[in-house]
Amino acid sequence: MATQKLLLLPGDGIGVEVMAEVKRLIAFLNKTGLTAFETEEDLVGGAAYDAHGKAISDGAMGLAQAADAVMFGAVGGPKWADVPYAARPEAGLLRLRKELGLFANLRPAVCYPALADASSLKRELVEGLDIMIVRELTGGVYFGEPKEIVTLENGEKRAVDTQLYTTHEIERIVRVAFDLARVRGNLVHSSEKHNVMKSGVLWKQVVTAVHKAEYPDVKLEHILADNCGMQLVRSPKQFDVIVCDNLFGDMLSDVAAMLTGSLGMLPSASLGATDAATGKRKAMYEPVHGSAPDIAGKGLANPIATIASFGMALRYSFGLAEAADRLDAAIAAALDEGLRTKDIAAAGQNAVSTAEMGSAVLKALEKAA
Ligand code: NAD
Repeated sequence: MATQKLLLLPGDGIGVEVMAEVKRLIAFLNKTGLTAFETEEDLVGGAAYDAHGKAISDGAMGLAQAADAVMFGAVGGPKWADVPYAARPEAGLLRLRKELGLFANLRPAVCYPALADASSLKRELVEGLDIMIVRELTGGVYFGEPKEIVTLENGEKRAVDTQLYTTHEIERIVRVAFDLARVRGNLVHSSEKHNVMKSGVLWKQVVTAVHKAEYPDVKLEHILADNCGMQLVRSPKQFDVIVCDNLFGDMLSDVAAMLTGSLGMLPSASLGATDAATGKRKAMYEPVHGSAPDIAGKGLANPIATIASFGMALRYSFGLAEAADRLDAAIAAALDEGLRTKDIAAAGQNAVSTAEMGSAVLKALEKAA
């Protein structure tokens, strides 16, 4: 068995509570012999600031570099509202993304049958929905230079952000999308604005070339980003994998995510480049939600987003697709049983605690073992 070094960074607020449920799953999987995870744990976010005066210590960064995958909880909270900007809790997350070179953000939007009525769309539109948004995470308009606000001679101000992509940045992200499509529904929609943006023109050219040279077996559609947003709420099941730049990905993944219900249900993965020598890639898995200070410490948080993120780690970092499938099925089984944390409970329905939901998933997994 290849090494299975996992770094756990629970962070702040509910991050700690939801990560506790993942630890129970790891213990169970190790006990069955299906996995041999060696876990280490460290601080990030406000917790790291309190201990070291930094949002992540160099020691924790070293552990992240050495790990096969990082499980991240959530960071932030009112306690750290006034810390210096460079040491704010979110800086820990940004440093991890940057130094691990995590350029591909994978956000699945899966609608569990038991929750189809919780979507803002009609049940028939979302039931069985299973799409994957692949967002470029380290380039584009959020990082391009110049990025500034300048005062003009007449006193008016001018703000500039620069949308910037190079061929290799586009090639590596679309390869991730095509590879995923091959083990899913074999369909990629590439979303850009080639009608009004030069970066969109290059994006479309590069996607077309990579497709022709390396992935002719995968079906490729080009779709303008505005139309993609519209189609996601009109008829989301037409999609399998959607690949897009950082800005459009930010928006489209939030739209897709909300088709499926609560923030407490949404996992994500961020992947780096594959190392040519080892065949491994840096990876971090985290729920989409934050530290939820309003419910932290009360045992109310839904652990499913973090549990499903761990499922993505099994699948994408450790090649354990069968275990990942079983974990997904265990989540569905817990929901089918009618268990609901407060965020996904219908009005008047009894809500279970974080630990009770975690136990139900664990029990369903044990039953399937
Ligand atoms: P949030 O995601 O923490 O919470 C938004 C709302 O969703 C809250 O009402 C919260 O109770 C609810 N919620 C979130 N996750 C839930 C879960 N698992 N179960 C049940 N309910 C859940 O976003 P926010 O309130 O805007 O931010 C709170 C703090 O988290 C801020 O400091 C923010 O900067 C930080 N944040 C961190 C991350 C991250 O670590 N990746 C992401 C977003 C926000």
